[in-house]
Amino acid sequence: MSISGKEFLDSAIQQFEEAAEILKLEEGLRELLKMPKRTLIVSVPVKMDNGSIKTFMGVRVQHCDALGPFKGGIRYYPTVTVEGVTALAMLMTWKTAVMNLPFGGAKGGVRCNPKEMSLNELERLTRRYTAMIYDIIGPHIDIPAPDVYTDAQTMAWIMDTYSQLKGEPTPAVVTGKPVNLGGSEGRAEATSYGVAVCVREATKKFGIPLKNARVVIQGFGKVGAHASQILYDWGAKIIAVSDFKGGILSKDGLNPYKVSEYEKKTGSVVGFESMKSISNEELLELECDFLIPAALEGVIHKRNADNIRAKVIIEGANGPVTPEADSILDQKNIKVIPDILANAGGVTVSYLEWVQNLQRFYWTREEVLNRLDERMVKAFNEVAEYQEKYRVNYRRAALVLAVERVVNAIKSRGLWP
Ligand code: NAD
Repeated sequence: MSISGKEFLDSAIQQFEEAAEILKLEEGLRELLKMPKRTLIVSVPVKMDNGSIKTFMGVRVQHCDALGPFKGGIRYYPTVTVEGVTALAMLMTWKTAVMNLPFGGAKGGVRCNPKEMSLNELERLTRRYTAMIYDIIGPHIDIPAPDVYTDAQTMAWIMDTYSQLKGEPTPAVVTGKPVNLGGSEGRAEATSYGVAVCVREATKKFGIPLKNARVVIQGFGKVGAHASQILYDWGAKIIAVSDFKGGILSKDGLNPYKVSEYEKKTGSVVGFESMKSISNEELLELECDFLIPAALEGVIHKRNADNIRAKVIIEGANGPVTPEADSILDQKNIKVIPDILANAGGVTVSYLEWVQNLQRFYWTREEVLNRLDERMVKAFNEVAEYQEKYRVNYRRAALVLAVERVVNAIKSRGLWP
């Protein structure tokens, strides 16, 4: 993360305060929602392959469960902090609420560098961490999922550890599992599909034809690569893509399936069919209809926001636009479809996975993506209604909608005792 956990949390709280102001929320509720309901910090000892013992800081932050069980990923990263994870947990509360899912928000993390650990060490770390947070997770309490540097294998270990301790197979304790363990068809491309639906709905809303719409994508990973392929299939023109090494540009449009084959072989998109190379900075400033940052947070900031020439930004990544850049983009009338809506396809299919696990009845990929499509369109239109009602940008509209839903649930439930 390019900003510190503290700065990230301050900015999440500031965004919440702005939404609270619009809703004229009373002070007591603001205080309640600025703090997580529960934070569990654990020290996770792991026997390393060389026989030594290393202890890692682990945390699970449960922000709010007014609308349902806590939900949110677990990340393994060297710079994990309690504050950063708290900010992410709060964002999950808003993301599930915008999508109208019966979930609250949580996030977990372990401060470690998985790139320097063996698969066996990662398995031992995951199982011990799971055992240490066992008491506060469960299919009706808190349901983790993959995040940065955790994946379907990590979820399989969590599911197995939890099931062993519980004494019964419990697939619904985590989502993002391998399909053979109760994972959902369509989960792998769910976030990208949601991003693509946001592009499609934005073309209708802002009067930009989807056919040949010029799309620029930063990041050619799980989110960016699939999104480029879906949009290509829907008739858009992908004019530039990039990864950590740099980008490629073709004004006539490129075939993302071929780029993907090339990237798998060579490790980067750079060099594909001798296309013009551009830097990641240049890519962000290309003239286009849709710019999809799908790599890192904070890439559009106060120093480059004025140079952005996209008509619409769809936030595939979490937090790619800083608050200062947001105001500059507003002045330039560049629309931003915010992360809590645009990349919510992943958590939405996580919800569908959880439902399938609980009912022990599974849907096809087509059924899953149709349900996702319907939910994305509904959420997009609801945010657009709030944007018109409150005359604010899409980010604020999404937050206001989310905070209102959470607050209404808190009020209906009342405080006990
Ligand atoms: P990923 O690791 O699969 O892909 C990341 C991509 O970004 C890679 O192509 C990598 O080369 C590129 N990249 C890395 N450093 C870069 C740099 N400095 N400049 C340009 N590109 C760079 O990750 P992902 O799962 O695709 O996630 C991308 C973003 O989307 C993250 O912000 C993540 O939090 C967010 N997100 C992902 C999901 C999901 O389901 N995968 C869901 C919601 C949000």
